[in-house]
Amino acid sequence: MTPPQQFSALKGVQDIFPPDVHLWQKVESLSREVFSLYGFEEIRLPIIEPTGLFVRSIGETSDIVEKEMYTFPDKAGRSITLRPEGTAPVVRAYIEHHLYNLPSPQKFFYSGPMFRYERPQKGRFRQFYQIGVEAFGAVSPLLDAELLSMLKILLERLGMKDLNFEINSVGCGNCRPAYRTALRDFFSAKLGSLCPDCQRRYEANPLRILDCKVDRCIELRAGAPFITDFLCSECKDHFEKVLSALRRLNIPYTLNPNMVRGLDYYTRTAFEVTSEHLGSQKAVAAGGRYDRLVEEFGGPPTPGMGFALGMERLTELLRETGEIVGPFPDVYIAPLGERAIMEGFLMAERLRARGFLVESGYDGSSLRSQLRKANRITARFVIILGEDELSSGRAKWKNLGDGSQGDVEIRKVEEFLASASPGKPR
Ligand code: ATP
Ligand code: MG
Repeated sequence: MTPPQQFSALKGVQDIFPPDVHLWQKVESLSREVFSLYGFEEIRLPIIEPTGLFVRSIGETSDIVEKEMYTFPDKAGRSITLRPEGTAPVVRAYIEHHLYNLPSPQKFFYSGPMFRYERPQKGRFRQFYQIGVEAFGAVSPLLDAELLSMLKILLERLGMKDLNFEINSVGCGNCRPAYRTALRDFFSAKLGSLCPDCQRRYEANPLRILDCKVDRCIELRAGAPFITDFLCSECKDHFEKVLSALRRLNIPYTLNPNMVRGLDYYTRTAFEVTSEHLGSQKAVAAGGRYDRLVEEFGGPPTPGMGFALGMERLTELLRETGEIVGPFPDVYIAPLGERAIMEGFLMAERLRARGFLVESGYDGSSLRSQLRKANRITARFVIILGEDELSSGRAKWKNLGDGSQGDVEIRKVEEFLASASPGKPR
């Protein structure tokens, strides 16, 4: 026999299992609920895409494209990339399937794994999960405010507090050239001290210097000009209307004129939601407008806007609030003896068919150890079935929540549980 061999998961990836997975499911189901109030429908997309899709949209000088992509040739020699984000694939699908022919705005949400070859640390993984939304066809600043409001409502319904909405406008193709020149002027004297990446970015895309994570570059950019001072009148007007709508909705925000976001496709509104409870990777969600992207990929001129939530950081925050989320069994059936094991087994199936969450013992262990198990899995009721109970036709029940107990006719257990559990059977 070959000796056993043990494997571990790769660096920077995670297994997600109970009880943690319940937090994930809660976030997923609640986001579906909230998104559907706003007319967002699910879109499911591939995990592999042609590399060019990301290079072209996120930008050659971005950290993602420069350093973080999982790119490999497939057997036919095509360059394939494991998607590092969701917006570009949604835009690709939107154009490929001519979804712009449907009434706008078109609204989609997605959820699934993303891949970036980053240095693994708290809040930063190589395979991580995002839930994201994208809306196409509305240029109105009210859409920006609506998306932020939807995000806030979702995060609040998840019980999150102390969130900070940071917002900026990164302008458009009209206002950015002058801003780029101003940035180059600002950094020209410091060029030699910038990191090698930023020295390249200086020529190719100086906005990227503002997003560099190297300490020295962060120091050197103090006092750099703000994009908001360079906005054209249309962008300025749009931004003011977004902010005014946020005020009307009582959504507190912080202006962050330094935030340019790490992806090239953004225009106008860009935002991040941060929490001080997260340490250094503090952005739990981020997004913005990308009014030119559809056109750049060969679609009709169509404004777009979206955001993505980082599941790992979100569930980390939820774990902190200490809330335990089920599912807990409605009942644990504790059979004693051969005959009772079969009766309990059949009873469990009957109850499940009625919508009750049931665990039942069938390994013949003692009452003591079965009660211990029922407690450990936080079952609400225990039904005890032994020889005596089978011959009298009455089972013993115990409510583990309040300690009350009694007995009930075996053939009426369903009615008994239904009356004791409001909302059940479902
Ligand atoms: P950061 O500044 O933290 O690197 P980012 O600007 O690269 O974030 P986006 O591409 O906008 O992030 O992704 C949106 C959200 O996805 C982030 O706010 C974060 O919650 C999450 N996220 C991004 N990268 C990772 C990662 N490597 N591991 C876990 N979550 C991530
Ligand atoms: Mg990043």
